[in-house]
Amino acid sequence: MNKSFLLENLRNIPDFPKPGIQFKDVSTWFAEPRCLKMLADEIIKRYENRGITKVVGIESRGFVLGSIVAERLGAGFVMCRKPGKLPGKTLKASYAKEYGLDNIEIHFGAIKKDDTVLIHDDLLATGGSMKAAVDLVKAFGPKKVFVNFLIELRCEGLRGREVLEDVAPIDALLTIED
Ligand code: AMP
Repeated sequence: MNKSFLLENLRNIPDFPKPGIQFKDVSTWFAEPRCLKMLADEIIKRYENRGITKVVGIESRGFVLGSIVAERLGAGFVMCRKPGKLPGKTLKASYAKEYGLDNIEIHFGAIKKDDTVLIHDDLLATGGSMKAAVDLVKAFGPKKVFVNFLIELRCEGLRGREVLEDVAPIDALLTIED
């Protein structure tokens, strides 16, 4: 993985979605084929021997590499979505994030007790959304849960890693100090 190539291709949008937020816009990675492949290859390298049977992607930026990686690991892909989007019966969790409150849902029956799960999202900030996702996934009683991010954002006041450290093994491809 070429970190400087990735950093050169990551767009930062200041003051989005509100003043003071430095938004790391991973859509520029998804649109650049060499970045997309580099990120997928790196996640595969880190998880190919962990017995992953389900990848859970967090809406919506977690869907992109989550589904690519699931297919390449020979695992299934499960959507963790915002409220009201999933048509079937769901399990739900609420959380506070860097800029507001939100809820997430997963379909009942999407994860089984014999699954080993990798939960994937684009970016770790406060860790609130991923903590809710881990709690939700653990409610299905899987064998093991791993957590992966493309970016871990580190800045004054963000304690994402501390929030997650005790709940699951976590890993990020790039760390960005803001
Ligand atoms: P958190 O729950 O605070 O860890 O926030 C993580 C979620 O919010 C991820 O799904 C990110 O896509 C999004 N997010 C939060 N802060 C940022 C940021 N500065 N740049 C890009 N995405 C962000």
